[in-house]
Amino acid sequence: MKQYVINGGGMVGAAAALALAEQGHQVTLVDLQPPGAARPAWDLRISSVNQHHWLWLNSLGLEQTIDTQKVMPYTDLSVTTQSGDTLRFGATDVNLPQLGVMVENNTLQRALWELLSEHPRVSLKVPERITEFDLAQQRLVLASGEACDYDVLIGADGANSQVAQAINISYRGWDYGQRCLLANVRLSQPQAAATWEVFRPQGPFALLPLTDQQACLIDYRSSGEINCISRDENTLVKALHHTFADRIGAFELLSHASFPLQRKHALNYSDGQSVVLMGDAAHTIHPLAGQGVNLGFADIRSWLNCNSDIAAYEQARKTENQRMMRAMDMINWGFRSQNPLLKLGLRAAFKGFEVLGLKQQVIARAMQT
Ligand SMILES: Cc1cc2nc3c(=O)[nH]c(=O)nc-3n(C[C@H](O)[C@H](O)[C@H](O)COP(=O)(O)OP(=O)(O)OC[C@H]3O[C@@H](n4cnc5c(N)ncnc54)[C@H](O)[C@@H]3O)c2cc1C
Repeated sequence: MKQYVINGGGMVGAAAALALAEQGHQVTLVDLQPPGAARPAWDLRISSVNQHHWLWLNSLGLEQTIDTQKVMPYTDLSVTTQSGDTLRFGATDVNLPQLGVMVENNTLQRALWELLSEHPRVSLKVPERITEFDLAQQRLVLASGEACDYDVLIGADGANSQVAQAINISYRGWDYGQRCLLANVRLSQPQAAATWEVFRPQGPFALLPLTDQQACLIDYRSSGEINCISRDENTLVKALHHTFADRIGAFELLSHASFPLQRKHALNYSDGQSVVLMGDAAHTIHPLAGQGVNLGFADIRSWLNCNSDIAAYEQARKTENQRMMRAMDMINWGFRSQNPLLKLGLRAAFKGFEVLGLKQQVIARAMQT
């Protein structure tokens, strides 16, 4: 059994801590802060977690502690191109009860922390931070002065990872020049348990279904456009109605915020010895297909499958994450393109998916990420 230190207890770090403790390892989890307090209203930071990873999280005990008010199962998903062609995916296509869930990030993190706080092999250090890294001795010193020895140090400390800096990891990436506007709304009419996304030249817009006849509306545009439409609440409400009302009818705006979109990929996921990166510490991906935290969960599961073999983990995950990041960039670029040949090609591809029955394969592949 190994001694792990995990820096960062977000959704990925907390799930990694629980999975490793369940395997019999000793885990120390360090975070600058605990998860935020539970609130009755849905937060804007929501993730779609696919069914493959949702079942795995439940196998770690999540269903005992998660607040189901902030979990919305969805059974259908559709993508519509600029030409109006729509590809629909359903849970029944792959004989599953649901494709996954929409879950509030904070609710998921809190539920994991509740399990960790009771786990005999987990020590939570919060609020706390690492002040010294002795990589040769595999020892850390915390701000409190406490020293922690480790066999493996996991950096799950997000896009500005302190652990990655400590082992001199460089990143390749760029700013998309786009922002993602998130708006939680109360709908005037019931919606199906379905998520959808519509592509247009300036970027896609999408809906995530939530409990209690609410939904999260997502609008991707250039940073300038987002700043312009969200300059005051009246302008924002008008812009949202203009984009969404045809599809969902009337709605009431509850909360909103926008986030800049960046791509970042670590050139290495480890120091080759005893330090590894997982989740956003290793990769930040365009969120248009809701893959970010799913890739983080896949990192953890790959680590568990690789039996702590750092080289095998790094090779498996770097290749897979790179593939997914490229796919997102192609979708982001290709589906927004005004090039008539590309549009024609996409149209043919969509028809092909339906006719050739490739949908099942696409869903099954997406579930493995
Ligand atoms: C607009 C938007 C929408 C998204 N939608 C989806 C979606 O639908 N589906 C999906 O799968 N993904 C989605 N994502 C991506 C997803 O939110 C991230 O991939 C996920 O939050 C990453 O989790 P993480 O635990 O790796 O990192 P983080 O959530 O960043 O957690 C990092 C943790 O480390 C801690 N920390 C940071 N620095 C330190 C330090 N120095 N010392 C100690 N602790 C530290 C933080 O307090 C935090 O707890 C979306 C992202 C965006 C921007």
